[in-house]
Amino acid sequence: MPRDGFGREIDYLRISLTDHCNLRCAYCMPLTGNAFVPSDDLLTAEEIETVVRAAVAVGFRKFRLTGGEPTLRADLVDIVERLARVPGVRDLAMTTNGILLPRLAQRLAAAGLRRVNIHVDSLDPVRLARLMRWGTVEEIWAGIEAAEAAGLWPIKLNTVVARGHNEEDVVALAALTLTRDWHVRFIETMPLGVGDTAGFARARLVPNEESRARIEAALGGLDPIACEDPADEARNYRLGHGRGVIGFISPVTAPYCGTCNRMRLTADGRFHLCLLNDDELDVGGTLRSGGTSEDVARILLRAVGHKPTGHRLAVGRSTEKHEMYQLGG
Ligand code: SAM
Ligand code: SF4
Repeated sequence: MPRDGFGREIDYLRISLTDHCNLRCAYCMPLTGNAFVPSDDLLTAEEIETVVRAAVAVGFRKFRLTGGEPTLRADLVDIVERLARVPGVRDLAMTTNGILLPRLAQRLAAAGLRRVNIHVDSLDPVRLARLMRWGTVEEIWAGIEAAEAAGLWPIKLNTVVARGHNEEDVVALAALTLTRDWHVRFIETMPLGVGDTAGFARARLVPNEESRARIEAALGGLDPIACEDPADEARNYRLGHGRGVIGFISPVTAPYCGTCNRMRLTADGRFHLCLLNDDELDVGGTLRSGGTSEDVARILLRAVGHKPTGHRLAVGRSTEKHEMYQLGG
């Protein structure tokens, strides 16, 4: 397994398949003025497979498809099929807003996808539409049910909590774990880029301690769950009588850089060294000028070697060149 300059073992690659999205969450993607990657520059399914083979060769084991919205890729099932059969890929997951899962979940599971994280910020139709814009609770809920029916287990829900929008809704979402064996995870808003989405994320931060207190006041005490995976960015709990897991991902108030095991690949073929910094190494150009899997492996090892640590979220800053929809979370 490759180690970075700080001794961290890096074995997890998050692969962005597109920077397009069918939603426009207020902390992630501006409503207008987005400069999308030209479609000819998107890595093809074959190129993504080459990168994954190279990653496995140097010790990567976990892979996650993300975006933008990964389900918008017309060749998504083909991509999953290709990656699932690469020997050494131990975990293949996807982060999605779930809206297209009713038509895709069964085929994705059959192709080898193991599990999904589904993004839902509220169970209240009005508040969800205000924050995620363009989406509805019904559509996302149908996606969650489709994922469960297809055996994409465990179901994990991602909720980004934003002041004045959904801070009260953490209770209803956490209560889902009373009757379902789902993981419901609350995420603090991170400001990425220099535009309106970053301003929104900065101004609307709700510290997870506050969400936790709100849940405990309404539903009872949360019992900590012993950490199974030290690289899990969530601190996990269970309601005494609950079936599922409640997680808190707190990049702003409780940073977890010390246990980061992740590298990212952008949709146009750049290794992005840390979500919250701008450093990147190009790999698409190498793939398109006849580079081999060994060449890609060398670039990836260089990327791991240069992976930075630490961020500036405490002072409300992070990347300057990228917004969240361009990196994948
Ligand atoms: N479209 C998919 C989705 O929404 O899940 C995948 C891409 S999205 C960038 C990945 C995850 O990033 C989302 O599930 C959401 O929870 C999280 N996210 C997006 N913008 C964020 C922000 N500014 N701060 C914290 N988390 C964010
Ligand atoms: Fe789209 Fe996901 Fe960003 Fe929302 S968080 S705008 S669903 S990419």
